[in-house]
Amino acid sequence: MHPRDQTIFALSSGRLPSAIAIVRLSGPHAGAALQTLAGKIPPARMATRVMLREHQGEPIDDAVVLWFPGPASATGEDVVELHVHGSRAVIATLFSVLAVTPQLRPAEPGEFTRRAFENGKIDLTEAEGLDDLIHADTDRQRRQALRQLTGLLGDRARSWREQIIQAAALIEAGIDFADEGDVPAELIAPALSRIERLLTDIQSVLSAQGRAERLRDGLTVVIAGPPNAGKSTLMNQLAQREVAIVSPHAGTTRDLIEVQLDLEGYPVTVIDTAGIRETNDPVEQEGVRRARDRAAQADLVLWLAEDDQVAEPQEDVPVWLVRNKIDLPTFEGVGTGLAPSESPLFEISARSGEGLPALLKALVGFARDYFGSTESGLITRERQRTLLSETAAALRRSIAAVNLGEELAAEELRIAGLALGRLLGRVDVEDVLDVIFREFCVGK
Ligand code: GDP
Repeated sequence: MHPRDQTIFALSSGRLPSAIAIVRLSGPHAGAALQTLAGKIPPARMATRVMLREHQGEPIDDAVVLWFPGPASATGEDVVELHVHGSRAVIATLFSVLAVTPQLRPAEPGEFTRRAFENGKIDLTEAEGLDDLIHADTDRQRRQALRQLTGLLGDRARSWREQIIQAAALIEAGIDFADEGDVPAELIAPALSRIERLLTDIQSVLSAQGRAERLRDGLTVVIAGPPNAGKSTLMNQLAQREVAIVSPHAGTTRDLIEVQLDLEGYPVTVIDTAGIRETNDPVEQEGVRRARDRAAQADLVLWLAEDDQVAEPQEDVPVWLVRNKIDLPTFEGVGTGLAPSESPLFEISARSGEGLPALLKALVGFARDYFGSTESGLITRERQRTLLSETAAALRRSIAAVNLGEELAAEELRIAGLALGRLLGRVDVEDVLDVIFREFCVGK
């Protein structure tokens, strides 16, 4: 049996125990399973209270069930939702019954979404948006994922693809006429202007300000500087102050600790590194090496120093010099003389918190500039950017090829359409032929 003909089930809600747990089934045998468990098939799309029972009639739980016959369901297949009490024992009993129900098996990760995609309920960009929405930590991530999920990029890509197919149909019609020794140039001109408009549109999406695709991962700020500068203290302060900490957790190495902050909706990972200084201790050297590596990959380095120290410059990474311990009587309020002229200078007390609001405000500003206007950004993944760039490149080549020969131009359009097809997860070349037959009635 093809895996898609099997009926899958999974716990779709969160960690147990919980007030309510939702078990979902999808596939051709979902209805039969529901019949077995509930003793009846309730009306479609209506919450119905039933006692779920084992095969021998023993009650499992008092549940609310929903029956979504396909294809008008999330996956396009018959879907059942069982809302039960979220205890481990209820789920264990329910699963033991489902596992021995013929044609049922536990779902693989993402399999419901995969079926929705395969059944044409959603395209690939929407599936990506769904995944991002589930993993969204901050409000901005949520909004961006939701735009993706509602098909903002998918709809644009579908409309671009449709236009490419129409342009290709015009050009291919020209080729067909050429076979008969009669090339109607008036077919080429509208095709060309269509392609040019399309290219401008795609290029504007590609060059939209900001790095919307990075909003998924967030930006990385590394706190570096010599030992005892107060890096850990600053880190603790940030972690405590920022009420919306997403998940403080230890880094993968002993000497890198990270916290994730939600700075006005921008996800920011702050990493505290080992003190950077010259040393002969091999263990410490390793820590210093890792700290330098991490700083080199960061989006921003906060170089924490006591008053007379200078920041170690980074290649390609902006560095802000943060002078700490301004509360100490020995601190001299020096000017910017010791900071590299292009680097901003902050003076703080990591211990008392003085100066931190200004630093946080600057960080929010940095994040805002970094991500740009993500509201208008349609691209949220590198995959999407790559495929759109490929589309644009093929469109440019097709414009250049029009004068060399219609076949060449049509071939480039086909490549552009394929790239968009891949973006949407649908690649079928039959489309071009369909449009020719439908709209042009070439008659061959
Ligand atoms: P790290 O080695 O850079 O992580 O530095 P720590 O955060 O461990 O701080 C080193 C020492 O400096 C500790 O004793 C801190 O209490 C102290 N310290 C950190 N920040 C401040 C500050 O703003 N003012 C004062 N007076 N002491 C601080």
